[in-house]
Amino acid sequence: MSNKPIFVTEPFLPPLEEFIPYLEEIWDSKRLTNNGPMHQKLEQALCNYLDVPEIALFNNGTIALLTALQALRITGEVITTPFSFVATAHSLTWNDITPVFVDIEPDSFNLDPAKIEAAITPRTTAIMPVHCYGTPCDVDAIQEIADKYNLKVIYDAAHAFGVTDQGGSILRHGDLSVISFHATKVFNTFEGGAIICPDKKTKKHIDNLKNFGIVDEVTVVAAGINGKMSEINAAFGLLQLKYIDQALSARRSIDCLYRAELASMEGITLLRPKTQVKSNYSYFPIVVEDGYPLKRDELYAQLRANNIYARRYFYPAINQQMIYKDSHIDRSYNTEIAQWASERVICLPIYSDLDPHSAMRVVKLIKAWSNP
Ligand SMILES: *Cc1c(COP(=O)(O)O)cnc(C)c1O
Repeated sequence: MSNKPIFVTEPFLPPLEEFIPYLEEIWDSKRLTNNGPMHQKLEQALCNYLDVPEIALFNNGTIALLTALQALRITGEVITTPFSFVATAHSLTWNDITPVFVDIEPDSFNLDPAKIEAAITPRTTAIMPVHCYGTPCDVDAIQEIADKYNLKVIYDAAHAFGVTDQGGSILRHGDLSVISFHATKVFNTFEGGAIICPDKKTKKHIDNLKNFGIVDEVTVVAAGINGKMSEINAAFGLLQLKYIDQALSARRSIDCLYRAELASMEGITLLRPKTQVKSNYSYFPIVVEDGYPLKRDELYAQLRANNIYARRYFYPAINQQMIYKDSHIDRSYNTEIAQWASERVICLPIYSDLDPHSAMRVVKLIKAWSNP
């Protein structure tokens, strides 16, 4: 059996020759950035594909998060999850906002609405939840709290490209949603991201902010930033979009294979998909429970020893990182479930070009330790 390395993800890349005409178009137009034709086409195409009202493209998801907070003039304290990629909390810190870490639900690994109210203070201005692994948050419960306390909601939807619930795209929830098109995400533009806006007015404001706050040749109305996506990235997005359904369905078959093989395994728990949710199969987390013969880190090391580079997303939890833990900005409530999850989860390799044979290599290793 082949022992080639298997990484947690691999980007989907369309045939290179299909990208050449896009490059020729860019060379002909001499438009390289600043809301060029590719940029405009991609915004339109994504609005259609995702079925959302307005999209503002960005050069990456983190700058989009920073800008979303600026756009809504968020200050003071923001309630967020410690069980995420560090960019979620960093976007607050960079805006001089205090991230207040609240625990997650044990079944979805998303911010637990039942624990939010206890963390609200007079300085709280917003909630920043994450649709972790693309699993939708309890958006109704979160909105109810936001309405009651007059808070904004900004979703870090970096994992949630193409996920829908019974009412449509989950990107429609909250005041703003932010998505990432980084190379490791389901839909990528090498680097990239976007803010999903509810209306044209909001998009215009955000478009100004991402372009230095410029409104016309002689007028700058805000201390904006450079968050613009270039034409090359936008062109790649347009090509990528042609293949996205194919890429998602390839991911789906890997998800099915893992579920079929691992669902009834002693000591391994899978996250159950929510009903009425169309997943994007962006991650395949397993929880290594006490009933499994190896500890999580032992299984992780065994996989590595066999050239399988699964990842412990998200370990350590953000509030366990030195810069947040015990620092002057440490504002953690009891986050024991996030702690528990971060010590037990492994994300298995899943991507559109992963062949079933390779996925079975992963499965067999996980099973090997159960039947010594
Ligand atoms: C990837 C990611 C980001 C950052 O996106 P970039 O495009 O890499 O800047 C933010 N939040 C979460 C949860 C992510 O996974």
